[in-house]
Amino acid sequence: MEKTFVIIKPGMVQRGLIGEVIKRFEQKGLRLAGMKMTLLNDEILTQHYAHLKDKPFFGQIKQSMCACPVILCCWEGVEAVQVVRNMTGSTNSRSAVPGTIRGDFGMSVQENIIHSSDSTEAAIEEINRFFLPEELYDYSMNLSAYLYADDEL
Ligand code: UDP
Ligand code: MG
Repeated sequence: MEKTFVIIKPGMVQRGLIGEVIKRFEQKGLRLAGMKMTLLNDEILTQHYAHLKDKPFFGQIKQSMCACPVILCCWEGVEAVQVVRNMTGSTNSRSAVPGTIRGDFGMSVQENIIHSSDSTEAAIEEINRFFLPEELYDYSMNLSAYLYADDEL
């Protein structure tokens, strides 16, 4: 089954809203495969945001992401990357659709609540970057029959 990667950004840790994000993915039916708290550093953020290295805000976004510890999570489900991306909402929280996480919790482009992988290739790369294999768990929740039809699995 597909896995995707999420960072609950410093702003949500500071605001005491970590649980609100986790709750949404749990209630959607995604399985939490791994989760940890960490303080990101410039080196790993330079890799993570490599696609933005020529943007004027590159230094600023990296600084904001290491302002305090963040929560890293790996979620699993059928088409998990697209499902989580849809739930995340557009980059600008002010124009993100209500009902999405950014649309419901944010007012900013930079301080936009969470990161989520934007493709299956990016998800694999990001999970490998931020998690060791032994930090991901393959436990069963025996819920598949209630969450999916047989031909969706
Ligand atoms: N960002 C920013 N200013 C911009 C565009 C992006 O500060 O004009 C930040 C924002 O926090 C965003 C992150 O850089 O989440 C990564 O940008 P990306 O284009 O990958 O957006 P995302 O995939 O997070 O929606
Ligand atoms: Mg992105």
